[in-house]
Amino acid sequence: MYEFSYSMPTTIITGHNCLVKNSKKLRKYGQRCLIVTGFSSSKLNGSLEDCILALENEDIKFSIFDKVEENPSLETVETAYLENRDKGIDFIMAVGGGSAIDAAKAMAILFRNNIPVKEILSLKNLESIPVIGIPTTAGTGSETTPYSILTIHEEGTKKNIGQKIFPEIAFLDARYTLNMPYNTTTSTAVDAFTHLVEGYLNTNANILSDTLAEKGLVLFGESLKSLQVSDCSIEVREKLLMASSIAGMVISQTGTSLPHAMGYALTYDKGLPHGTANAVLYPGYLKCFKKTAKLSRMLELIGVESIDALSIIFRAILDFKIELTESEIMKYVESILSNEKKLKNHPERVTRDDLIFIYRNILKK
Ligand code: NAP
Ligand code: ZN
Repeated sequence: MYEFSYSMPTTIITGHNCLVKNSKKLRKYGQRCLIVTGFSSSKLNGSLEDCILALENEDIKFSIFDKVEENPSLETVETAYLENRDKGIDFIMAVGGGSAIDAAKAMAILFRNNIPVKEILSLKNLESIPVIGIPTTAGTGSETTPYSILTIHEEGTKKNIGQKIFPEIAFLDARYTLNMPYNTTTSTAVDAFTHLVEGYLNTNANILSDTLAEKGLVLFGESLKSLQVSDCSIEVREKLLMASSIAGMVISQTGTSLPHAMGYALTYDKGLPHGTANAVLYPGYLKCFKKTAKLSRMLELIGVESIDALSIIFRAILDFKIELTESEIMKYVESILSNEKKLKNHPERVTRDDLIFIYRNILKK
């Protein structure tokens, strides 16, 4: 018997120039918009210009906050809110990578509730003003997930703020990802891959999330072949963006699993980009599975013959350097074990030794 509920409220609009072509869809969200973006990339890849054009077409007034850093902090969310709270902001357009979209979701909660920023971590089920997601990386899928991952410096880590903010619309235009450097392209692409895998090999997986994950894995596998020969054409970009948004839909249902829980420390302490931080944990993570039927199917779908072969590919396409001491490994393992929620999505029993094994088998160059 199938027992699950499935909800994906985000409207997805894809295609070249889809934002400007569909600017009418913005009318119903109000008369005053805040555009939230990173420091520079959206000014160079055409996404910010299109966003402004779409708003001007509809006579919607706007302000711009262009100071979202990578792995955005609670402080940045607060700054954007304080700078704009008296402007009557009706909705937010988030233009950029996962950092801009995640920060925008948290800001959208503050605009709706007018609360001190820290309360977004403690209060439950907070509503937000509408968010429109325009991704310019192809990896996080934040445009189709309800999650917002912020850096909480007081706790020395990154975490999901625990609210549910699905963007109202995701505009997917792969042209914005065309000038992304190769290293950012690969580190974000493997993030999408890890979402697909962790959603597929997950306690909460169901027939619908698996159907999406399987299609996403095929698209990722085709793109992986191109990335290995540095083919980053628009066709490859389109596949990666679609795989990434599909992966977002998958983890919206299932959540992520061990590598995401274990990778945040590698971003916070070692500075690895988010996707790479997860991917380096994959050799150990995949080898931990005792039941391997679905794991074998995953490898088949991406067209890679073994875990070792996948590790060789990741080593070749990702740019990273990482060393972990035994005492760091033990500290990270204890931190994961102290929060049972971090283990519950893994469909098999997880022991301390499993976690140590995963960190010790970290991918090295
Ligand atoms: P990002 O941190 O948003 O951006 C990384 C870098 O790429 C930035 O320097 C950015 O520059 C640049 N960039 C963005 N688009 C570009 C483009 N088209 N061309 C050239 N450079 C570009 O990277 P991300 O991997 O997309 O997002 C990572 C964040 O998302 C992490 O905080 C992670 O925890 C979170 N995440 C969230 C979810 C979710 O479901 N909400 C899922 C996975 C990960 P600018 O600053 O100049 O824009
Ligand atoms: Zn991720």
